[in-house]
Amino acid sequence: MRFPLALSVKIARHIVKHKLRKTPKFALVLQLEPLHTCNLTCTGCGRIREYSTSLKDMVPLDQCLAAAAECDAPMVSICGGEPLIYPKIEELVAGLLVQGRIVYICTNGLFMRKKLREYFAAVYDPSNPSHQSRLQRLLDEQLLTGKEADAIRRADAAAKNRVVIRPTPWLYWNVHIDGLEYTHDLIVEREGVFRECVAAVRMAKILGFQVATNTTVYRETDVQEIEDMFRFFSALGVDGHTISPGYDYDAAKKDMVRRLGKDPKEFFLTREMTRQKFAKILDWGREFTIFGTPVYQEFLAGRRELTCTAWAIPTYNIRGWKAPCYLMTDAHYPTYAEMLQKVDWAKYGVVNGVARDPRCENCMVHCGYDPSGALGTNYQSGDHWKNFKYNFSPRPKPHPWSPELERRAFNGASVGKGHLAQARAAVAATSAPAGAPGSNGKDGSHVGTFCGAGGETAPVTQRSPTAGASPGD
Ligand code: SF4
Ligand code: SF4
Repeated sequence: MRFPLALSVKIARHIVKHKLRKTPKFALVLQLEPLHTCNLTCTGCGRIREYSTSLKDMVPLDQCLAAAAECDAPMVSICGGEPLIYPKIEELVAGLLVQGRIVYICTNGLFMRKKLREYFAAVYDPSNPSHQSRLQRLLDEQLLTGKEADAIRRADAAAKNRVVIRPTPWLYWNVHIDGLEYTHDLIVEREGVFRECVAAVRMAKILGFQVATNTTVYRETDVQEIEDMFRFFSALGVDGHTISPGYDYDAAKKDMVRRLGKDPKEFFLTREMTRQKFAKILDWGREFTIFGTPVYQEFLAGRRELTCTAWAIPTYNIRGWKAPCYLMTDAHYPTYAEMLQKVDWAKYGVVNGVARDPRCENCMVHCGYDPSGALGTNYQSGDHWKNFKYNFSPRPKPHPWSPELERRAFNGASVGKGHLAQARAAVAATSAPAGAPGSNGKDGSHVGTFCGAGGETAPVTQRSPTAGASPGD
């Protein structure tokens, strides 16, 4: 099965319950943003720009849990900002699991290994051979340093009693990956992030977690690269992939113009371009474990129309329930019920090729249209069977690992082709004599000075790309 049985049953029961009750609108996935603080400044991210004046604010834990209970979505995607910066992230995950929800932690991956170490320290039992062998494997694969392994072995009572994020079939790490090394580091505006994400994914799999990747496709995205990305992460054993087209929402567009001096049209996709980029998504769905319904995949490939059901993936954050959708903001409401009631939903989306709101014109994103496929809006004969068959058919086999695949994946900073290489070389040339350490940028020196994100940056080293990267924590 592409998605575990218990989770599929949970979602199906939720939909059937509301269909029987004839509930006009209900939530399937809650996008919960406990904070908007982030340790990256990705190109195209509207969140950290739209909420730039409230980056220090956080939704209290009890309010997050109350929001999940109020909308009662079976799935909660904890996003942000970077959710692992939220001080009560462990309690939030635990509370949502107690409520019986399927939880996705949408992370940029930089703090993930820290959380995984805390988990392992809390549960590590030296008399358990499986724990010993996992610790040794993490060391052998350079996903832990000797010091970190010692800290796990010698965890004190405080570390043992800490609330930690534990593996369960109800939880997925959902790691933001927008391409292979060069592209991903370029989009997140920091070198070393891809390598750290790969290390985090591998460590999570060794410790028994479910992991998915979460990819946004932009105008410049090379489809061949996306396929290689699926192959690479499939070979690492990830459990699924979510993929969605990039959307030119206002905050991201403004940032592109002001900060980067770029025309947003060079970056984001129109509807027609989305259909071209996603022309092969049905093939990808057969070869890889792509999450989402085949009906939504047909929509992305341009084989059918869907109407927007943004109310089914509501967003809750420091200002309340964000309407009409994850991407556009016309208002915030104190409750989900009030948002459902007060928003004129007929004003949004694209119907029969005509945008009801000009801002919706190029939008085909999952948070507007993926639920439409599951809910049977625009139903065509056989859709339910198609969705059922897709989910219940065997999960595609992991792609075989090969040195060539790994070589294609680490095509950026790991092989000296980072997007900052030119800038680094130029500065080195003016500050160091030719041949001096650092003059070629391959000495392990930090590149934080040049990083768009500012702050501490993973060192660029020449060690094996699959070896544990320098943690972002
Ligand atoms: S990781 Fe990137 S896309 Fe995600 S919130 Fe941070 S800046 Fe935005
Ligand atoms: S089509 Fe729906 S999800 Fe997309 S921008 Fe419009 S309201 Fe939001």
